[in-house]
Amino acid sequence: MTQSVGVIGLGAMGMGMARSLLANGFSVAAFDLAPQAMARAKEAGIAAQETPAGVIEASDAIVLSLPLASHVEATIEVGLAAGAFKSPKIIIDTSTSEAAVSRRLAAKLSEIGHGFLDAPVSGGPQGAASGSLSVMLGGDAQWVAQANPVLDALASKVIHVGPSGAGNIAKLVNNMLVACHMLTTAEGLRLAEASGLPAEDALSVINSATGRSALSEIHFPNWVLTGSFDSGFSAGLMRKDVRLALELARDSDCSMPVSELVAKLWSEESSGIADDQDFMLLGRVAAGTEEK
Ligand code: NAD
Repeated sequence: MTQSVGVIGLGAMGMGMARSLLANGFSVAAFDLAPQAMARAKEAGIAAQETPAGVIEASDAIVLSLPLASHVEATIEVGLAAGAFKSPKIIIDTSTSEAAVSRRLAAKLSEIGHGFLDAPVSGGPQGAASGSLSVMLGGDAQWVAQANPVLDALASKVIHVGPSGAGNIAKLVNNMLVACHMLTTAEGLRLAEASGLPAEDALSVINSATGRSALSEIHFPNWVLTGSFDSGFSAGLMRKDVRLALELARDSDCSMPVSELVAKLWSEESSGIADDQDFMLLGRVAAGTEEK
């Protein structure tokens, strides 16, 4: 069984995952570009490494939780250039990334005896901290079997979707729906309020009926109606997901007129919400619970 696990990227998701791995008995080494993240990791008992290559060299399995596919690719290239892939490794990329990049990295690493799985997740920072994420896996069964002990510590649901890239395709479809549901749920609540039905009352009906979704059941009650707007997912990362889903649609010759409109409404110009703000703030603006 894999004993030493590395985590690269200790943000809202990566830090929770590193803690879950530690709680499950793994020795954990980690790296993040941000000194504050490294300080928090040390406090938690995680072995802070000075470079990503150091994490790769010290670990049998490496979990990546990085903002963009370009960060994932650069991290692997840095590790290869530094000669960090000495013993066999399995890379578990939990970032929401691009299928083409995952396929390229999986092919390159498998040629030299290492595994690469696209393993994007759902469940937010709360799921990461409690080891109850859902993971959507793309890659070969032999590597999935090798990653299973680590995945068991991170997730309550692991779905092997298909070959390399399939996990990222599933994640982008899921998050395009989240982006759409956010706006349609907000509009529904705006209609309820405008017609004299309080948003709370409308939500409790919707959640017992067919209009419900994770947005109506979890996001709006917890992070919009409470006024907290602290889901831990930034508007910038949601915009990345919408952009990648539409790029995938174009590459696949798939028409997505509703999603094209949703992408425009999500833009910073249209919503007034900056990339580093919580994505749930768009629910407030769209629902009209606060006029801008
Ligand atoms: P975040 O912005 O909170 O954290 C990203 C971390 O990566 C930061 O600490 C940053 O310093 C670090 N980083 C950036 N580039 C780096 C590099 N080259 N090397 C090392 N560290 C680097 O982001 P997050 O919310 O934790 O999301 C991470 C990934 O998980 C993203 O791909 C996101 O789309 C995905 N995701 C996020 C959520 C969520 O609810 N936050 C849910 C599912 C999936």
